Amino acid sequence: MRVYFDYNATTPMAPDVLAAVAAASRDLFGNPSSVHHFGQQAKAALDEARSALALLINGEPSEVVYTSGGTESDNFAIRGVAEALEATGRRHLVASAIEHEAVLNTFKSLARRGWRTTLIPVDQTGIVDPAQLRQVVTKDTALVSVMHANNEIGTLQPIADLAAIAHEHGALMHTDAVQTVGKVAVDVRALGIDLLSLSAHKFNGPKGTGALWIKRGTRMQPTLAGGKQERNRRAGTESVPAIVGMGVAARLAAQKIGLEASRVGGLRDRLEEAVLRAVPGTAVNGARSPRVPNTSNISFDRVEAESLLIALDLEGIAVSTGSACSSGTLEPSHVLRAMGLSPHRAQNSLRFSLGLFSTQEEVDRVVAVLPAIVDKLRALTRKPASQTVVNH
Ligand code: PLP
Repeated sequence: MRVYFDYNATTPMAPDVLAAVAAASRDLFGNPSSVHHFGQQAKAALDEARSALALLINGEPSEVVYTSGGTESDNFAIRGVAEALEATGRRHLVASAIEHEAVLNTFKSLARRGWRTTLIPVDQTGIVDPAQLRQVVTKDTALVSVMHANNEIGTLQPIADLAAIAHEHGALMHTDAVQTVGKVAVDVRALGIDLLSLSAHKFNGPKGTGALWIKRGTRMQPTLAGGKQERNRRAGTESVPAIVGMGVAARLAAQKIGLEASRVGGLRDRLEEAVLRAVPGTAVNGARSPRVPNTSNISFDRVEAESLLIALDLEGIAVSTGSACSSGTLEPSHVLRAMGLSPHRAQNSLRFSLGLFSTQEEVDRVVAVLPAIVDKLRALTRKPASQTVVNH
């Protein structure tokens, strides 16, 4: 039995998505910018997917711009606003310290080109305190970018409160919702934001496609120069089959988001409770709530997470040490470090992330093999036991 508990890295496509991608690849090969029948067929398919995405996040179809995924959407949101507002003198950008590299490295790149950037801290449960934003945002701030849920620990951020503070100072608000869209209800109007990034492969859609939702009237500069696609906002021929698949994934998510969230949440809680009970010296990282229902990040005292990951993989169980981008390196996670965890504990932490095809049998299999593996790894290390404090 193979167990895939790495849904935050990527998800398998749902069967209906796979079928739609295959059919679109075969039948909708026209260029959506062409005026003839073949082109118009492809364009109609793009419009249908746009409506499905808009419905999922409570936006308007005309506000949805297709991109190549979460990374491009984040780059587009930040660079697009920075460039559009440069002439106004707003040259300050704010993000949280636990953002994905797509945001953090875009900030670094703009900082090298003269923008002032500020990263606001999180508390020990991995949540941004709106008071921290209030202290740093000024009339020079162009954009505040804080992720909706963190990819490593799953904590949900108080986006509506942060957006209200950004707007008081005339700044725009972006949220990277790559880890929430399709998992929990996301409503761009209720969040009060201006820009939102999403990525299809995190909600059972195809890889290499996503969208940036841009509130109507938001001042943005395109970041790709070229043709007039996407109403002049993102040049390049759209990936029609992938976008059609993303549309189907969005419809499937919208149909069962509440039910699926409670089913997956139940499995995650079962896993978490059983691991904490069966394995001594374990603790959950990040607030238990609010959190996306599929994610659990657990520290195992005196166990190198990389070794545990490999031992579990040998048993057919796939998990992660944090963000996929930093796995394979021994750098402690910047997210866990920002929460104040010691480098040691940050390196003892594993992420379990569940999803559409996860079952109770899989959870029970993980719980059955984990204690013996941890015991074995601990026996190999001769370090003295240190105290682990369990977060609630
Ligand atoms: N933002 C977050 C929070 C993510 O988890 C990821 C994926 O790992 C990304 C952005 C990047 O998305 P993509 O893989 O579609 O480029």
